[in-house]
Amino acid sequence: MQIYKGKSVFGGIAMGKIRVYKKDENQVKRQKIEDEEAEISRYQSARDEAMSQLQELYDKALREIGEANAAIFEVHQMMLEDEDYNESVENIIRTEHVNAEYAVAATGDNFSGMFAAMEDEYMRGRAADVKDISERVIGILNGAAGAVVAADEPVIIVADDLAPSETVQMDKSKVLSFVTVHGSLNSHTAILARTMSIPALVSTNLTSLGDVDGAYAVVDGSAGKLYVEPDEETMKKLQQRQREFAEQKELLETLKGKENVTLDGQKMLLYANIGNSKDLATVIQNDAGGIGLFRSEFIYLERDHFPTEEEQFQIYKQVAQTLSGKRVIIRTLDIGADKQCDYFEMEKEENPAMGCRAIRICLTRPEIFKTQLRALFRASAFGKIAIMYPMITSVEEVRRIKAIVAEVKAELDAQSVEYGEVEQGIMIETPAAVMISDLLAEEVDFFSIGTNDLTQYTLAIDRQNTKLDEFYDPHHPAVLRMIQMVVENAHRKGIWAGICGELGADMELTREFLKMGVDELSVSPGRILPLRKIIRETNVSQLCV
Ligand code: PEP
Ligand code: MG
Repeated sequence: MQIYKGKSVFGGIAMGKIRVYKKDENQVKRQKIEDEEAEISRYQSARDEAMSQLQELYDKALREIGEANAAIFEVHQMMLEDEDYNESVENIIRTEHVNAEYAVAATGDNFSGMFAAMEDEYMRGRAADVKDISERVIGILNGAAGAVVAADEPVIIVADDLAPSETVQMDKSKVLSFVTVHGSLNSHTAILARTMSIPALVSTNLTSLGDVDGAYAVVDGSAGKLYVEPDEETMKKLQQRQREFAEQKELLETLKGKENVTLDGQKMLLYANIGNSKDLATVIQNDAGGIGLFRSEFIYLERDHFPTEEEQFQIYKQVAQTLSGKRVIIRTLDIGADKQCDYFEMEKEENPAMGCRAIRICLTRPEIFKTQLRALFRASAFGKIAIMYPMITSVEEVRRIKAIVAEVKAELDAQSVEYGEVEQGIMIETPAAVMISDLLAEEVDFFSIGTNDLTQYTLAIDRQNTKLDEFYDPHHPAVLRMIQMVVENAHRKGIWAGICGELGADMELTREFLKMGVDELSVSPGRILPLRKIIRETNVSQLCV
């Protein structure tokens, strides 16, 4: 047995095989190709190889687990032989002049979307199978045949580091846990793992990843430990901890449907942070009152081209409809710093966290901004959408945003496109915004405090730099006083103020936030019920001042 130590991103116990993830392995890039026929024959050979892999799997399963369980591999073979599936791949290669990997991925997405929308439960279940076979073919095209087989069961992903764009593209049903050698607790990869509510560690002292690939392991997210090939006694202890976690979870379940209200009647909104429409199931499961931060930039990071207005509209509409009338706050794209997108073709900067990012991109490249705003306003006809703008530092910026929003609305009016009432708020994540929050409060409908960046800019500490973790103190009195100031200024002007940075989920501060009068906390979905528990057990009037 080997034990490694890391920093805990999210608690809980995960048990399973390790799969070492190497950069770019699972990413499908859209590439232009010259010779369509050669590409089609490349696809056909990969498909043939997939067919024989499936035959092998069928034979093995038949021997080991019986005919009924082996049948799934027969179904996969039939799907791979399906005429419509094959025609679709070949058509995409021919008409769009693109690589086979991309054509297979696009076909897989389309077909699995079609299955997922079917009435019949059995057919709906086939959506995952189509994705599976497509991934198998892509793996072969990429020359990573072994990887496809390894992903047949959920795994613990171990990686040197993971970019947010890589994390967001992983199939969540196949990931039990993330463990990385690098990465800080405040990075977006850590934030995404929290959103998925799975045990995760960063900054783990693993030296040679190759040695642990394929090994059986247990991640204890709360204790920050990775056990590789645990011995029997350790395994027993970990299984006991796993049972305790399950019991705690069950207790929290009883809080579903209950109000977030203190013993003396003070209410708090508890909303969820998401990065993707795939996170919606956990939002509903955890009984969130709404979505307080949808990091829309992940829609951009998942692609290798600008998402079209229509693509974005469909996503925002789906989120609004799923939340059926509950507030959904969508943050406009916050590209930049650690969230880099090649096709934005940004110039290299010395200091990207302080560079051309977020609203600065939107104001200097309004065509990108307008596409997103049009999609958001159109989607607002289908639910309670609110828009939030990141990285604000001045009243002038808010006024420029308003002018662009007015243009977008005028265009939609001229085209008789419907949209609903849309609340508009800003993130308070720069010290400048804090200091002028009295003025900003006159311009907007709400504030949401982004404590991740606010801490970084207030303490002058790069949130990505793990070496500075000991100095990155979000409990710093300067940060807490700023939160207090923002809430007071918001209330004076009659608007609400919440927190959507990671500090919102810090249970050591929940009582303090209640005392300050914070109106909303937006946190990763798995934190909602534990926070509800604290709120319901607190008597604010009895807290010492
Ligand atoms: C923040 O800065 O606190 C925030 C919520 O935004 P992000 O973490 O995406 O920068
Ligand atoms: Mg931020």
